[in-house]
Amino acid sequence: PTPRLLGPAEIRDLAEVLDVTPTKKLGQNFVHDGNTVRRIVQAAGVQPGETVLEIGPGLGSLTLGLLEAGASVIAVEIDRRLAEQLPHTVRLMQPGRSLTVVHDDALRVTELPGDPVRLVANLPYNVSVPVLLHLLEHFPSLRAGIVMVQAEVGHRLAADPGSKVYGAPSVKAAWYGRWRLAGQVSRMVFWPVPNVDSVLVGFERDEEPGTEAERRATFALVDAAFQQRRKMLRQSLSSVLGGSSASAAAALERAGVDPQSRGEQLRVDDFLAIARASETARA
Ligand code: SAM
Repeated sequence: PTPRLLGPAEIRDLAEVLDVTPTKKLGQNFVHDGNTVRRIVQAAGVQPGETVLEIGPGLGSLTLGLLEAGASVIAVEIDRRLAEQLPHTVRLMQPGRSLTVVHDDALRVTELPGDPVRLVANLPYNVSVPVLLHLLEHFPSLRAGIVMVQAEVGHRLAADPGSKVYGAPSVKAAWYGRWRLAGQVSRMVFWPVPNVDSVLVGFERDEEPGTEAERRATFALVDAAFQQRRKMLRQSLSSVLGGSSASAAAALERAGVDPQSRGEQLRVDDFLAIARASETARA
């Protein structure tokens, strides 16, 4: 019988037929272990009939797992050969399933053929955070998701203030909802074997705490604060808050934030309060 998921033999054959040599630039590490695929699909809580967005389907390892669970999959793949092959692989291994492939750069898509409620992806590592933030900004239908990312990035996304790895990605991700680590993944399940470990990260979307203009202002503050993360906020934010450390301190005090604190101690709500306080100053 035809297998329903891709194992090492199928991955090797497909890559050979397509003449695909995985590139680091596109973060091409393909999963060749069905147990890992089923574990991700289960952790994601995919429901039959649901529309799921997958970024970077590659040769189709995770796509087939999502389809097996009964999801309708919209898959965005930047590599033309992979995007063109995917419908054929699915027709062969799981005929009758619902798949739409979009050949595009996930950092640039602003429209999709449907309204996916869940994101499930093994993200290309070098762009995983920008891709996540772009998708959350442009596709409000996405309510939850599970993504596989480089371990270091996963820990950042799920970090709380005060943690060593808490940084700009942690604060920006928190704008959109709650994030949690959902397990480790061995590097041995990939071909080629990457030189970093991976983790699963889950998120659940909450209502955004402010408007789009406030989000932009907040993210600008976050970038400034973490570009000089050792400095006190009255210094690191001086250029974005009136041009001097005195004007910055005044805005911080209006926001109820200690001007001597550092970005790594603040929650996203604190950054938003600063953005609002600086707006008041300008008005
Ligand atoms: N989902 C497959 C799996 O688990 O075996 C492949 C995952 S691989 C880590 C990342 C995939 O993302 C590759 O197929 C790569 O071509 C694709 N990719 C890389 N950059 C992309 C981008 N900006 N937009 C869409 N896809 C991208």
